Amino acid sequence: MSTVALTGTPGTGKTTVSELVADRLEIEVVHLNDAIREAALVSERDVDRDSLIADLDAVEAWLDDYRAGESGDLGTDERDRDLLVESHLAHLLDVDRVVVLRCHPETLKPRLRARGESEASVAENAESEALDGILATAVDRHGEASVWEVDTTDRTPEAVADDVAAAIEGRIDPRVGVVDFIEYL
Ligand code: ADP
Repeated sequence: MSTVALTGTPGTGKTTVSELVADRLEIEVVHLNDAIREAALVSERDVDRDSLIADLDAVEAWLDDYRAGESGDLGTDERDRDLLVESHLAHLLDVDRVVVLRCHPETLKPRLRARGESEASVAENAESEALDGILATAVDRHGEASVWEVDTTDRTPEAVADDVAAAIEGRIDPRVGVVDFIEYL
């Protein structure tokens, strides 16, 4: 079984795209932020805070259990399926490859506003996206040969899902440095 992380700043389309990819490939999707919330995989001191601060060791242990089929309730066939772990934290885990969704900050902002995020959160996420932090961390941890950066700006979720499926199936080479949003800052 191979595990693929689908990561990116909130609003880049991870949830939407992961469902489209699951329709196309024999792959099991894990919405990791839901698991973190449901299994309370958060660090003790942050447990009462509004925003979840994940306990990464606990998340890694949960994912190991899930892969072993212990908490996933999977049948034998499903246990052999690849996993697509969708979360802005997924690249921090022990995974085989990483797909990083990108989106120009000016395109990201209306997506976040449309789902009711506060202006402070919209601004913070737009800035994080311009700063490239997730991509840099993913490359640092997993190496360029395991990272696929996919631009979602002005593209449909279906077109993005095509690229993500191609990356998972190894039909396109790893690639980083495809966008540069630094002028936004
Ligand atoms: P994430 O899981 O990364 O936070 P979502 O999948 O929830 O992102 O998408 C955030 C919002 O942006 C949703 O309203 C979704 O419909 C929209 N969206 C996602 N992908 C695209 C895209 N490629 N183009 C336009 N809007 C998109």
